[in-house]
Amino acid sequence: MSDSENRFDVLIIGGGPAGLTAGLYAARARLKCVLLEKMMLGGQIATTEMVDNYPGFPEGIAGAEIGPLFETQAKRFGLEVRQFKEGLKIERLSDGFNVACGADEVLYCKSLIVATGSGWTPLGIPGEERLRGAGVSYCATCDGAFFRDQELAVIGGGNSAVEEALFLTKFASKVYIIHRRDQLRAEKIVQERAFANPKIEFVWSHIPLEIVGNDGVEGVLVKDLKTDEKRLLKVAGAFIYVGMKADSEIVKDLVKLDERGYIVAGEDTVTSCPGIFAAGDVRVKPLRQVATAIADGATAAIMAEKYIENS
Ligand code: NAP
Repeated sequence: MSDSENRFDVLIIGGGPAGLTAGLYAARARLKCVLLEKMMLGGQIATTEMVDNYPGFPEGIAGAEIGPLFETQAKRFGLEVRQFKEGLKIERLSDGFNVACGADEVLYCKSLIVATGSGWTPLGIPGEERLRGAGVSYCATCDGAFFRDQELAVIGGGNSAVEEALFLTKFASKVYIIHRRDQLRAEKIVQERAFANPKIEFVWSHIPLEIVGNDGVEGVLVKDLKTDEKRLLKVAGAFIYVGMKADSEIVKDLVKLDERGYIVAGEDTVTSCPGIFAAGDVRVKPLRQVATAIADGATAAIMAEKYIENS
C-alpha cells in the first residue's frame, strides 16, 4: 500500500453506531477517513436480538441488521472500513497520530475518534472463568439456541439481563433471573414483559456464589441475602449481565479516564488530548443507547473537522 493510502484526516476506532455515524459525517464532510474494527460491525447491538427503542423502526429492528445499514450508508459517501486484529498502538506526534495496526502497518491521521464502546463485566466468582464457553456465556444471541428445553440462569437486573432472559425463553424451558435486590433496574416496559412471561422465575435478593460443574455448567450456587441461606439452582447455562466496562485500554495513556475507565469528555466529545475525540459508550455519559451513540458520532466528526481546519 502506498504511503498516501495510509494517511488520513480522521481515523475512527470502533465500528458500532457511534463509529459508523462518525464515519458517515466525516465522509460527508469530505474528510479522508478510515474506520478500524476488530470484530463485526455494529458493536454491542450486533449481538442483541431486537432493538425496540431506536426511532424510525416502529416494529423494532434486529440488532444484527443495524450495523450493515449504517455501514452501507457511510460507505455511500466514501468511508473506508478496515479490519484489524488486537493490539493497536497509538503514538502522538506533533501534527497528529500514528496508529500501528500489527507489525508492519502504520496509519497516520490528523485526528482520532475513539468509539470503542464497552464490554461485559465478569462477575468474578469461582467457576465463571473455568466454565466460560461450557455453559457460562455473556451472549444470549450467540449461545441461547444451544440450550433448547433446558433450564438457564441469567444474572443481573438491568436492561441487558432482562431483555436477554426474555430472548432465552424462546429456547429454554425455564429461565431464572438472579438479582441481588428485589427491584429491577431495567426499563419498566422490559420489566412488564418479563413479569408476564411464564417461563421466567425471579430469584430476588440473591447473589451467585459459584458456577458449579465439571465439564459444563450444572448449577449456580446462590445465597439469599435476607436469610443467608444457600441453595443450588440446577441449570445448564449461566448468562451473566452485571454491567459493562469501558474498552479504553488503547488510549489510557493519552486521555483522561474516570475511575471506571470511561473517557472523560463532554457532549462535545472533546477529550483531554487535543485531536482525540470520544464517541459512544466509551465516553462518560448518563445514558448508553444507540440514540446517544449516534449523536456522539455526528458531534465527534464535526469537532474533528473543526480541529483539523484550525490546526
Ligand atoms: P446495568 O444497567 O449496569 O445493570 C447491571 C445489573 O447487574 C444491575 O441490575 C446490578 O444490580 C447487577 N449487578 C452489578 N454487579 C453485580 C454483582 N457483582 N453481582 C450481582 N449483580 C450485579 O448493565 P446493563 O443491563 O448491561 O446495561 C448497560 C447499559 O446499556 C445501561 O445503560 C442500559 O440501559 C443500556 N442497555 C439498554 C438497552 C435498551 O435500551 N434496550 C439494552 C441493553 C442495555 P443493581 O441493580 O443492584 O445495581
